[in-house]
Amino acid sequence: MNELVELLNRYAEEYYQLDKPSISDAQYDTLYRELVMLESEHPELTLPNSPSHRVGGKILDGFEKYRHTYPLYSLQDGFSLEELQAFDERIRKEFPQVTYICELKIDGLSVSLTYEAGQLVVGATRGDGSIGENITENLKRVQDIPLTLTQARDVTVRGECYMPKTSFHRVNIDRQEKGEAEFANPRNAAAGTLRQLDTAIVASRGLATFLYQEASPTDMTSQSQVLLELDKMGFSTNRDYYLASSISEVWDFIEKIAEKRSHLPYEIDGIVVKVNDLAIQEELGFTVKAPRWAIAYKFPAEEKEAEILSVDWTVGRTGVVTPTANLTPVRLAGTTVSRATLHNVDYIADKDIRIGDTVIVYKAGDIIPAVLRVVESKRASQEVMAIPTLCPSCQSPLMHYEDEVALRCINPHCPSQIMNRLEHFASRDAMNIAGLGSSIVIKLFKTGLVKDVADIYRLTTENLLQLEGFKEKSAQKLYQAIQSSKNNSAEKLLFGLGIRHVGSKASKILVTKFGHLEALAQAQVEDIAEIEGLGQVIAQSLVSYFTSQGAKELLVELKEAGVNLAYKGQVAITDGLLSGMTVVLTGKLERLKRSEAKAKLESLGANVVGSVSKKTDLVVAGVDAGSKLTKAQELDIEVKDEAWLESL
Ligand code: NAD
Repeated sequence: MNELVELLNRYAEEYYQLDKPSISDAQYDTLYRELVMLESEHPELTLPNSPSHRVGGKILDGFEKYRHTYPLYSLQDGFSLEELQAFDERIRKEFPQVTYICELKIDGLSVSLTYEAGQLVVGATRGDGSIGENITENLKRVQDIPLTLTQARDVTVRGECYMPKTSFHRVNIDRQEKGEAEFANPRNAAAGTLRQLDTAIVASRGLATFLYQEASPTDMTSQSQVLLELDKMGFSTNRDYYLASSISEVWDFIEKIAEKRSHLPYEIDGIVVKVNDLAIQEELGFTVKAPRWAIAYKFPAEEKEAEILSVDWTVGRTGVVTPTANLTPVRLAGTTVSRATLHNVDYIADKDIRIGDTVIVYKAGDIIPAVLRVVESKRASQEVMAIPTLCPSCQSPLMHYEDEVALRCINPHCPSQIMNRLEHFASRDAMNIAGLGSSIVIKLFKTGLVKDVADIYRLTTENLLQLEGFKEKSAQKLYQAIQSSKNNSAEKLLFGLGIRHVGSKASKILVTKFGHLEALAQAQVEDIAEIEGLGQVIAQSLVSYFTSQGAKELLVELKEAGVNLAYKGQVAITDGLLSGMTVVLTGKLERLKRSEAKAKLESLGANVVGSVSKKTDLVVAGVDAGSKLTKAQELDIEVKDEAWLESL
């Protein structure tokens, strides 16, 4: 018990405070269960610092402490149908007619949001349940958290803040390119992001929320009603819930969700089964750690053993060298896995991973398989893995900087880097040149026809016909795709240039602000850093890129080739909250500039026009709004205020 408490507390610190777990949740849960079993057999030996008596972790320095008015709890967990049945029996003894609500267990971190008169005043982490970290400024940067509710109420709500799978992969690719350690899973990525001291980074990471609880006293009588009410207040709630009148119905739902789990856009680690009736919940009450009216069913771990056959080292577009293990194939979460990332050299050294080792493979964030640890008892090789000293592509010496976890090739002429940059340039979110994928890029580079992105625009159909596999029609098609990419709006070009820290979202913001890449190239660090959602890091990187001789020449070459460098206006957004709506802005706004308000509305899909007519769907009015507001009222058009716009 001593040993387990010490181990579990260490793992909990790595998980909650450092956002860097060294074992999987399933391994943690197994150790935890062993401790709970020993404690139930020998309650007199229970240690005062046992994790079974505490919620979550300690508070980090750097944030103010926040004492929760209503404490937050953990959940008791179950791993089998039998455990769910035992839970049901306990409850049904007292409440034979009980109905359960099954909700997805979102794998993020708990947040508590407090509103006064409908305005967000505090956002905090769970912490140890009584005291959390005040992360209000960061939570304000999470897009779907309303700053103002639709009703001017005092309320405290709870929910899960998470990182969608797409954002998780984007963030990890970015971290890999920067030579930083990747996040182990979306949960750690979300927690690590919310503990950033720079709110601009939080804004760029694409976090989202699902709210599920009113913590302050509520008039609602059931959990399903609470979810609807939260929705009405303006929160994001998860619609995938299910009301079940028996445990067999609960189990059917669990099986249904287990099937579609890998297709969900966010990670879930189980299903939370709650008593739906709030009066029954109140009667059942809480243990020291968790409510008696809920149980979290956890999905079985998606981990398998496999043998490492060999390791490939590849160079990315910024020179980072990444190791990937080739494995004996195993079935994992619905697919056959034969390759897994080993992240970086530090990871290999930390875990002492060797070729020939039997390792535990799992899917991080459900998509990319990764190696969790070595099964030491099955170790065959005595040889520590050889780490390359030369670039696998250009043979120049590799660097391992002290503050980086990655190995790096710093040769700007390294063929692999160039080819990866070209491929990125042609990719969908960048210049979107259909047909210019990896294999064609390799051919173009190897024949010497294309050495940098400007060369792409010098290609003729004759050039393409020289390449193996090209016929008149395919050459024409690629040539046309290259020509039409010249007309792209400039944010695609900016992203395509692959400037460090400048992703597609930042590119869009920059190009909308500056209108033209030549104007952006002249901008000073301060001009860029002050833009909402960007910040110093991006600003520095852009300025040092555009002041380099190479970039200056490239812009001239691209311009001469006829590539558009200007912003071409809003691309129609068809799935925004306001898509298809015609909106008029009027009056003086207090916090937003008129141009910012317009950009916000447009980013949500609205068509912003200057005058009110029967065709207007909505008017956003600031103070002292005059005739346009009167006209809107006459025509019975819905009128909203600045706070509403911000809350979107
Ligand atoms: P938990 O994450 O198992 O369950 C409680 C939490 O579930 C709540 O606080 C809430 O944040 C969340 N949740 C998500 N969706 C919900 C919904 N619809 N309704 C209610 N709650 C919902 O418990 P915990 O105490 O936060 O963490 C313990 C777990 O953390 C362990 O079981 C383990 O899996 C993991 N852990 C792992 C390590 C490690 O080293 N890998 C270390 C410590 C803890």
